[in-house]
Amino acid sequence: MAAAPRRLGPPTPTPATEARMAALVSPSSLVRELRERRLVTQPKAARPPRAPVSRSRTWQEQLRGSVRSVEQLARALELTPEELEGARRAEREGLPIAITPYYLSLCDRHDATCPVRQQCVPRIDEAKEVPGDLVDPLGEVDHEVAPHLVRRYPDRVLLLATDRCAVYCRFCTRSRIVGDGGGPVSIERLEPAFAWIAAHPEIRDIIVSGGDPLAMATERLDRLLGRIRAIPSVETIRLATRVPVTLPMRITTELVRALRKHHPVWVMTHFNHPKELTPESIAACTRLADGGFPVMNQTVLLAGINDDPDVLEALFRGLVRARVRPYYLLQADPVLGTGHLRTPLAKGVAILERLQGRLTGIALPKLICDTPGGKGKVPLLPDYVVGRGEGTTTLRTFRGEDVTYVDPPIS
Ligand code: SF4
Repeated sequence: MAAAPRRLGPPTPTPATEARMAALVSPSSLVRELRERRLVTQPKAARPPRAPVSRSRTWQEQLRGSVRSVEQLARALELTPEELEGARRAEREGLPIAITPYYLSLCDRHDATCPVRQQCVPRIDEAKEVPGDLVDPLGEVDHEVAPHLVRRYPDRVLLLATDRCAVYCRFCTRSRIVGDGGGPVSIERLEPAFAWIAAHPEIRDIIVSGGDPLAMATERLDRLLGRIRAIPSVETIRLATRVPVTLPMRITTELVRALRKHHPVWVMTHFNHPKELTPESIAACTRLADGGFPVMNQTVLLAGINDDPDVLEALFRGLVRARVRPYYLLQADPVLGTGHLRTPLAKGVAILERLQGRLTGIALPKLICDTPGGKGKVPLLPDYVVGRGEGTTTLRTFRGEDVTYVDPPIS
């Protein structure tokens, strides 16, 4: 059975939370209180030296050494009161905290506006509900056709194989179930899903997601892909993963060797900011590309993180250099508690318009809105058609010139 939704309505603040929220009105008293409890940074003179964060451990050591508590987070970063409150709330309810030492090393210790930090450090804004927010924005519960199996399109299905990720992203579409504690789902418990796929030969493409399938042990993932491959009608397998971004040392030679037996396997990764393109993450993408995996990237448009054409141009160019195809630029799903991270639809369209023509076509993703309720993805485009006549269409180019295209005569 799928994990029960964690949050079914707007969060109800406890009296303790209300007291803390009230204290936020007077930040100086809250900061004083938190400093006394050593949960926010001391003034510079009293600050202890920062412990080095290793980027060279194995992936298992990275997972074991991940930051998972408020105390660990407050030791690693100078938390603002809003972050501290958010982290405490995340520990109590909602999407938990997990940040690998590697990903943490990309966070600015002192600056809460750091684009990597904003993706992984909770804020108290997660307690807010704004119009349009949904617990399950893509209607996955309603579209479940077998336990852990979601069908929203005619030819493909989504297999939710685990609830674990290396890092829990604060904008996660599946925050209702991710990190719930169930861990990887056993092959036996997935058998009804496999039986459903086998009974529906029109399904050709299996997207393995969760959670993050690459956070599983190699042997378990190998068996899972082997079981999917045993279904004759399955043509392609896609692995939806943020591991190349958050835990690149996971992309080992052993993993590549195990996965390439199941080709064609596509890797759908999720870089959101050029700061995430490090020597380690680029090496991970290179290992995947060398292993014969087409690597596609889905970037989520996030307010204050990457909603800027220059930032996205740098990201998309960097991805192409790493042999990763920018595939989708996704309008952020209206997940409950993520209103502070979302942008208006028009912003993405304006960004795309700025990038069209300026960026080589192989670096330009489609802008997509995944419509609420699981009704399907809709591509969004700037309006390039400025006039229509009898057999003619006037188009506006990326330079702003109007050019008329004449249709051939209809015979
Ligand atoms: S890695 Fe993916 S599934 Fe996991 S928390 Fe991030 S966005 Fe959600």
